Amino acid sequence: MEQISERSRELLYGTWRKQRGWSPINVVSADGVYFFDSSGKRYLDFSSQLVSTNLGHRNGAVIDAIVEQAKKLPYVSPAFTTEVKIRAAEALLKVVPKSIRKFFFSTSGAEANEAAVKLSRMVKSPAYKVLARYRSYHGSTYGAISLTGDYRRWLAEPHTMPGIVRYPEPYCFRCPLKLNYPQCGLACVNYVDYVIKQESNVAAVVVEPITGTNGVIVPPPEYLPTLRKITSENGVLFIADEVMTGWGRTGEWFAVNRWGVEPDILTTAKGASNTYVPLGVTGTSKEVADFFEDHLFAHGHTYEAHPLALATIPAVVAEFERMKLLDHVKRLESYIGKRLNELKESHRSVGDVRGVGFFWALELVKDSRNTPFSDYPQRAIGEPGEVDRLAAKLLEMGVYVYNGPSWLIIAPPLVATEEQLDEGIRAIDNALKYTDDKYSQ
Ligand code: PMP
Repeated sequence: MEQISERSRELLYGTWRKQRGWSPINVVSADGVYFFDSSGKRYLDFSSQLVSTNLGHRNGAVIDAIVEQAKKLPYVSPAFTTEVKIRAAEALLKVVPKSIRKFFFSTSGAEANEAAVKLSRMVKSPAYKVLARYRSYHGSTYGAISLTGDYRRWLAEPHTMPGIVRYPEPYCFRCPLKLNYPQCGLACVNYVDYVIKQESNVAAVVVEPITGTNGVIVPPPEYLPTLRKITSENGVLFIADEVMTGWGRTGEWFAVNRWGVEPDILTTAKGASNTYVPLGVTGTSKEVADFFEDHLFAHGHTYEAHPLALATIPAVVAEFERMKLLDHVKRLESYIGKRLNELKESHRSVGDVRGVGFFWALELVKDSRNTPFSDYPQRAIGEPGEVDRLAAKLLEMGVYVYNGPSWLIIAPPLVATEEQLDEGIRAIDNALKYTDDKYSQ
């Protein structure tokens, strides 16, 4: 194990961190909700890796689909069509919101968003501005990191793409407008109408229906329907970034379904292939598709619509249906909520619990004024904060939890049983002593 870790340090980059001190765990196998390192230690995967292996590890049906496709036709240029492309698109049509009719396939969430922005700008030309939120993450390539609102964007500046305008998020725990829901009348989303009108030349508004890496921010019920209404009234495209929220994470195929919202463009990745092979999806409405009948579709990649990636989509959909996973997630949603709220009752460092389905955050605070443990600037210089240390403790205890500067993201594989959820929550209960000890009145 030492040797592989050491060679990794020499030969590879550890991303989003300083290289010094990097000593990654050597993972040798995985099964269901667990993965194992080379010493045989077992880890409960309480975040589905990067909120992405929704069906869990080593799903046989998805693996078989990849292997069969590899044997039959591992690659052909995008100039040709193949049966696997149609099977993937037809499987998608069964699960995406009704407004989404036509697809472009790439290899990551970032690329799916890059395509969404390019297509929006082509369709709405000469309008080119795109509205995105401060607390958002859309990927790390130059276009996608420019859309991103959080501190990771700062690291790419001043080289980010122009034409992005920010709007505030419905982060009610620390409202950016210092208001309280519902008396606020949803000022944060109504402000978008003002921004669009004042900016002019707006092509699209991009939104994570539930903010993901920036802390699982679930909007109030009227938020997304209002945003949809504002974009429609202003003739602006609505792009739903469902890279993290898609594929059953919220108990629906896609998070927008929870609010009956139909986007013009939907991007997704991660759960689409269960992350076993790289895949990004940009789904578009009929309006967008119609535009390209007589306009150049000026976009494409060598690896677009890759057969091995597309082969996973029908298998993933079939696995969801076979295991009735959406029902399973809906059934356990209130159980997870109850158990996590018990943690809030018994741990002073837990300031807020929020989430839906199998997608939750524990927001950690260091005092009774709800001060966050770590602020973005600290992360931006690559220094670990207390919540990073809390996550490291959990890892030592055999539970992997993905974390942000001041929150843990609890997003187990959707196949997790109630007992497995209890196993993870018990470990968090024990580990929270660490942040409780750092709490001051
Ligand atoms: N959008 C969202 C909402 C994401 O959570 C992520 C990844 N965490 C991305 C886009 C970027 O996806 P990728 O890492 O596959 O480029």
